[in-house]
Amino acid sequence: MLNRRTFLKTGAAVVPVSAALSAIHPSQALSAELAAGAIAGGPVPRLIPLPSRLAPVDAAAEPWQRKIRRVAQSNMTEHDPAVMNIEEWADYWHAAKADIVFISVTGILAFYPSKVKFHKWGKFLHGRDFFGECVTAAKKRGMRAVARMSPDLNWPDALAAHPEWAMRFKDGSVQHNTQEPKLFKTCMFSSYMDDYVPAIMREINSRYDIDCFYTNGWPPLGSLPDCHCAICSKLPPSGTPAYWRVFNDRVLELWRKYDAIAKEKRPENFFFSNLGSNVRCAPDLNRIGAIAQWFQADNQGRSFSTPAIWEASLQGRVCTAVMDGKFATNVTGAYSTGTVTWRNSSKDPAETRIWLSESIASGMAPYMHFVGSEDGFCEDRRWQKTGADYFRWTAQHDSHLKGRRSIANIGVVMGQSTQLLYPGPSTVHNRHAYMHETTQGIYDALLRGRFAFDLVHEDRLEPERLKGYSALLLPNIAMLSDRQCQQIRDYVRSGGSILASFETSLYDENLKPRSDFGFADLLGIHKAGDVIGTNGNAYYARIQQPDAANPHPILEGFTNTNWLAGAENRIPLESVPDPLLTVVPGFVRYPPELAYPPVSHTDKPAVVVRETGSSRIAYFPGDIERTYWLTGNSDLLRLLHNTIRWLTRDESIVHVEGPGFIEMLCWETSPGYAVHLLNYTNPNAVHGWLESIHPIGPQTVSIKLPSDVRVKSVDLLHAGQSVHFSLEDRVLRFTVPRVEEYEVAAITVA
Ligand SMILES: [Zn+2]
Repeated sequence: MLNRRTFLKTGAAVVPVSAALSAIHPSQALSAELAAGAIAGGPVPRLIPLPSRLAPVDAAAEPWQRKIRRVAQSNMTEHDPAVMNIEEWADYWHAAKADIVFISVTGILAFYPSKVKFHKWGKFLHGRDFFGECVTAAKKRGMRAVARMSPDLNWPDALAAHPEWAMRFKDGSVQHNTQEPKLFKTCMFSSYMDDYVPAIMREINSRYDIDCFYTNGWPPLGSLPDCHCAICSKLPPSGTPAYWRVFNDRVLELWRKYDAIAKEKRPENFFFSNLGSNVRCAPDLNRIGAIAQWFQADNQGRSFSTPAIWEASLQGRVCTAVMDGKFATNVTGAYSTGTVTWRNSSKDPAETRIWLSESIASGMAPYMHFVGSEDGFCEDRRWQKTGADYFRWTAQHDSHLKGRRSIANIGVVMGQSTQLLYPGPSTVHNRHAYMHETTQGIYDALLRGRFAFDLVHEDRLEPERLKGYSALLLPNIAMLSDRQCQQIRDYVRSGGSILASFETSLYDENLKPRSDFGFADLLGIHKAGDVIGTNGNAYYARIQQPDAANPHPILEGFTNTNWLAGAENRIPLESVPDPLLTVVPGFVRYPPELAYPPVSHTDKPAVVVRETGSSRIAYFPGDIERTYWLTGNSDLLRLLHNTIRWLTRDESIVHVEGPGFIEMLCWETSPGYAVHLLNYTNPNAVHGWLESIHPIGPQTVSIKLPSDVRVKSVDLLHAGQSVHFSLEDRVLRFTVPRVEEYEVAAITVA
């Protein structure tokens, strides 16, 4: 969020402070001057010029799936052949301008008269070709068709004939679906995946005009399978790096096999599977990203344990990191998603829309999903207008809403292996949530600082990929191989700056602990002991300020205090010369009689900053991102913001100034550029669903264009109006007078 000091400095010149602040209330009218699109904002910020524009897209050479802009799914139930009105279904999605629809083949229940053994016909099918009728209805209207399968479960007769197909517990008993216990879970290492699934795919290929195959339910998403069948019991134990490798080998093997079968129909057909869980995805995203033509992110809505509004855009940033511009989409559950779910009831329109908007803003195509079509085309029809209106709006602006290249100057390392395999420090109770909390902390801090950032996979640290980033952030990226540590050294030697925290690089890629940091030399530190947690009262960071009137930039804004919040956990370090902050060890919280520091001064650093060549390096021994997420402590937020600004020399590549809590993403597009502003200024930003919208006032956008680029227009796609702009010394500036839930400033260039 804009810090108040900056806002007062820059915003007040044009708008009275009272008017600007009150603009977050929807009933307040904006000043006439701003509504007309005048350019507000203060002095020109320090801007990094945008890179030269990409060569134009050759539309004729572009694969068909990259032209898909709207994805539709009425997820079919066993009962749908009895109740669904196929014409009404197809008419709805066609009128909503969907480019492609998911149609269920399945594998659990056949939606067509399958001859594949154990592909049980749904009990309302009665020999009817429901799948075929849906494909025909879609194709008649010019929509493409995804053949949707589900290879994860099957019935007792299949189990009796093929006991080797089942996932098993340690005691040898079969693993069943907990909601329908007649269904057993199929093992992905078994011949079920090699024989049964391909047999269905080939049957579909032989009968229907489909465009691609998709598997739901496989591979698993947020955690690795734990099977003890005859095959799996010979594999390394689940949850280990060694298991992750064989798991990924098998996922890739099956993916390639299914893709080859899809191509038996037509060379442009392909296979893709369900993915998601953003940074904690189970399959190796680096390897999947190299072969996938379609990244299907199954991240349908918030839950009680994933309460933040930005879950969909976080997912989009993951896709951008691994797909190299190929097609990605995120499933928006238009039904009542959450820790308690109603799959056949609509969610609030504002919540559905923000999810769709996040999908677009973060580089994905919007995707609407509803389950079941009881009573013709759904008992609860509230989602239909929400979806159709939204899709039709996007269809007016496809070229501006399709990003080609993310505009960002900060890279945040994802640490997928750390997310999946690192157990978290033994000092915390809920170790499973540890890295999720860490990710949320850095993400929240980056949004509030309005930084332009990308995620970077730890297996994609080549200089070519990192060269556009002036800083790389490593928020407790515990697992890094020697090669990855060397790549980070190389990045710093080439002029890049880094921020690292807590256990970053203290484990190798096999989760083997290192005795010291993998790039201790770079950070200028040495580990002096194991993680120290909090027993009552967390540690403090004492300000060591040689010149209080002229503080180091990372300590700016801290006045009238000798110490700051530390973090919940820290790695003890050996002393360093002239630390900016030193550790005051934690102590008793209760009883308050004992809540004072027995040791009030140490020489142990609570942050280490260095400059080498043009690079800047900062390391926090505490888990400050996660502690910020747990507490909302503003000392930690300011420290993170100050440090990132110091690393980047307070330069932006996209600068958006104004009130409110937003997520900002910027893309180079075919017509020019698009600045996406998602308005999270809402009481339900970190819990529940959006029920209402709280518009925010003027946002002034500044970017520095390449020298040969001229601007034809700046249009606000949500407001449906053009705005005035200025272009001086290549710096483009304009003001978005008001952001309701989402605005896209579409810049058309010549
Ligand atoms: Zn198994």
